Amino acid sequence: MTELHVHREEIWLDAACAHGLAEHLFLHLPHEACGVLRGNAAAGGMRIETFFPIRNVAPDPLHRFTLNPQEWVQECLNPSGLLGIFHTHPHSAPVPSAEDLRQLPLFGDLLRIYLISSPDESGSSIVTHAYFIDRSPAGEFALRPARLCMT
Ligand SMILES: [Zn+2]
Repeated sequence: MTELHVHREEIWLDAACAHGLAEHLFLHLPHEACGVLRGNAAAGGMRIETFFPIRNVAPDPLHRFTLNPQEWVQECLNPSGLLGIFHTHPHSAPVPSAEDLRQLPLFGDLLRIYLISSPDESGSSIVTHAYFIDRSPAGEFALRPARLCMT
């Protein structure tokens, strides 16, 4: 594993919140599901504490997600503690798709964390990958893999 030599910054995820993400994924199968993550970005790294589901209004929810605009705006009205976005990949690995990367400018200025979950091989639990949303000096957004730790 080359990962041994890579230092990845950590994102902490509250166990109850992780459970909520799994529930949300399985509740909405076979469709993609989404929502926002709130928590704390104080000293010692970022800590995800709460998940707020947002309805996926994509015309093709099997393969993509679109945050319900009303609910998204509602979340943005309370920016304190707004940390990240979550969505699911029911049929593929939890890695960003080309479409996911195209959508980044829609919320990249407001959010710092990007989480994607997929069902694991057993089909009863989830695999979650975490990324930091980075913005280049030129204003372009990118996702940088992070290490996700449970608390
Ligand atoms: Zn995706």
